[in-house]
Amino acid sequence: MKITNCFLCCMLVVLAACGQKKSPTVTAAYDSSGVSRNVITDPSKWNKLTPEESAVIVRKGTEYPGTGDLLSNTQKGTYICKRCNAPLYRSDSKFDAHCGWPAFDDEIAGAVKRIPDPDGERTEIECANCGAHLGHVFLGEGFTKKNTRHCVNSTSMLFVPDKN
Ligand SMILES: [Zn+2]
Repeated sequence: MKITNCFLCCMLVVLAACGQKKSPTVTAAYDSSGVSRNVITDPSKWNKLTPEESAVIVRKGTEYPGTGDLLSNTQKGTYICKRCNAPLYRSDSKFDAHCGWPAFDDEIAGAVKRIPDPDGERTEIECANCGAHLGHVFLGEGFTKKNTRHCVNSTSMLFVPDKN
């Protein structure tokens, strides 16, 4: 009887894990990754930014290529918004585009807003919760099967490693 219970328990864990992988949402990614920071929805309570961070996140600047602290990070975990803690990207969508900035081929569902630049040449990406500038998204470059590259400033994100 004990063995059966254990087996059922394992199956439930496997099924739950599969379910989360198939349809990631902001809430599911937040829960499964062990992120302890709460998403801040009240702008008066956003995390304080340094002048360097504000230059990118608020004034839509770009960090110097090759300098970001998350560029070569290969740990498993979740990349969250530096200003409001909203989960933005999972580590399994990160790839090396050799472009000087962290690159992702997919976002956590609903986490990123796309806005065409005024000149129509590029598409800006922002945190869907707080509007923090993240970088730009490029399509059709063929880097990965998803054919999408979110080119994101390290400065705009914090990395929260998975607990196991
Ligand atoms: Zn945000």
